[in-house]
Amino acid sequence: MKIAIMGTGYVGLVSGTCFAEFGHQVTCIDVDTEKIRALQSGSVPIYEPGLQPMIAKNAEAGRLAFSTALEPAVGEADVIFIAVGTPASRRGDGYADLTYVFEAARQIAPLLRGYTVVVNKSTVPVGTARQVARVIAEANPEADFDVASNPEFLREGAAIGDFMRPDRVVIGTDNARAEEMLKAIYRPLYLIETPFVLTTIETAELIKYAANAFLATKISFINEMANLCEEVGADVHAVAKGMGLDGRIGPKFLHPGPGYGGSCFPKDTRALLRIAQEHGVACRIVEAVTEVNAAQKARMVRKIRNALGGSEAGKVIAVLGLAFKPETDDMREAPSLTILPALMEHGATIRAHDPQAMKEAARHLPEITYCSSPYEACRGADAVVLMTEWNEYRALDLVRIKELLRTPVFIDLRNVYEPKHMAELGFYYEGVGRPIRP
Ligand code: NAD
Repeated sequence: MKIAIMGTGYVGLVSGTCFAEFGHQVTCIDVDTEKIRALQSGSVPIYEPGLQPMIAKNAEAGRLAFSTALEPAVGEADVIFIAVGTPASRRGDGYADLTYVFEAARQIAPLLRGYTVVVNKSTVPVGTARQVARVIAEANPEADFDVASNPEFLREGAAIGDFMRPDRVVIGTDNARAEEMLKAIYRPLYLIETPFVLTTIETAELIKYAANAFLATKISFINEMANLCEEVGADVHAVAKGMGLDGRIGPKFLHPGPGYGGSCFPKDTRALLRIAQEHGVACRIVEAVTEVNAAQKARMVRKIRNALGGSEAGKVIAVLGLAFKPETDDMREAPSLTILPALMEHGATIRAHDPQAMKEAARHLPEITYCSSPYEACRGADAVVLMTEWNEYRALDLVRIKELLRTPVFIDLRNVYEPKHMAELGFYYEGVGRPIRP
C-alpha cells in the first residue's frame, strides 16, 4: 500500500513511521522545511522514546521518505492521511481551527490520480470529513476518491507502543472500498483479530472527542476528590485505589495532580463544548470539567504560596519538570505555563530543570533560569516544586536536596513521594490530596 501523510508532527511522524514498519510505502510531507530537512538528514525534531531508531531503520529500507513536495507521493498514494494540527482557534472561542486541514485538502485535490482514500487523522469537529470531501470535489471534479475518519488515540511519550498495540482502531466511512483499504493498512497490527470499530464518519469523529472528554473528566473528578481529602484528612491514593479496583470504574486516570494539559485534552474538551452548543445540546459535565481544571491550577499556585509562608515575593522556587507529562518535550498547555507565571507575577524567581523540554519551555518562559540538573535547580531555593513525574525525579537524593535548599519545603504536585518518609527526612512536604505531616 502506498501512503502519503500530510503533516509530520507527533501524530503524522509516528503514524507514518509505524505504517512503514508494517511494510507499507510511506512519504511524510510537511510545510516546515526545517523539520523535513532534519528528518532527511537523520535527526528527529521531537522527543519520543523509540522513534529515532525506527525512523532510521525504515528510511534505510526505502519504505519511509520525507518531503516538502507533494509530488510524486500524493499522486501515487492509495491512501492519504491528513494529520495536520487542529489547534484551538485564535479567536479564543473554543472552536478547532480547521485552516490547516482545509489547506491540506486543497493542496492534494489537483494531484489525486486513480482511486484514492483521503483520511482525516487529525482530531476534527463532526462534519469536517464531509467538508474535506466538498473542498476536494470543488477543486477537482474529476477526482475519484472517498473520505474517511480515522482518529488517533496515541499518547505522547508512549506513542509507538500505543500505535502498534492500540486498544482499538476506529474507522468511519460510508464506503465499503475505503473501509477495506483502511482495514488492510491496519491488519498487520494483530495476527488474529484487530479490534476495529467500523462506523459512520460522524460517529468516528465524535468518538475521539467523547473519549478525550471522558478521560479529562476522570482527571478533574479525582482532583476534586483530592481537594476534599485535604480538607477532611483523607488520603486520595487510598480513595483512588478503593474506587479503581471496582471493575466498573477501573484504576487508570485516577491520579491527582496540577490539572491536565497537553496538546489534546484542553483544546478537545473546549471544541466538544462548542460542537454541543452549536447543536443546542447541554454538555454540563464537560463544562464543569474544564472549570475544575482551571481552578486546580489556581489552587496549586495557592498551595505553593501557603507553603512559602503566605507570599512568594522575593522567594526562589526550584521547579522539577516543565512538560505537561513525562517522556515528552511537548509544552502545549502544560500546567507549568499557567502556574509559574502566576508565581513570578508576585515576585518569585524560578530555577527549573526538565530532562527534555527546556529548549521548548524557553520559548514560552524566557525569564526563568534553566538548570543542568535537578540538584542545580534546588541550590539556594526556598522550596522545590515537583511539577512533572519524570523517572529521574522518582529516586532523587533527598538528603542532598535538603542540604541544597535554603528551607526544606517540598511541594510534590504529582505525589511521587511518601508524606511520612518526607517528614522523617525533615521536609515540610505537601502532595495533592494526601495528609500533611510537618
Ligand atoms: P503537530 O503540530 O505536532 O503537527 C502538525 C504538523 O502539520 C506540523 O508539522 C505542521 O507544519 C504540519 N502542517 C500544517 N499544515 C500543513 C500542510 N498543509 N501540509 C503539510 N503539513 C502541514 O500536531 P500533532 O500533535 O501531530 O496533532 C495533529 C492532529 O492529531 C491534531 O488534530 C491533534 O489534535 C491530533 N492528535 C494529537 C495527539 C498528540 O498526542 N499529539 C494524539 C491524538 C490526536
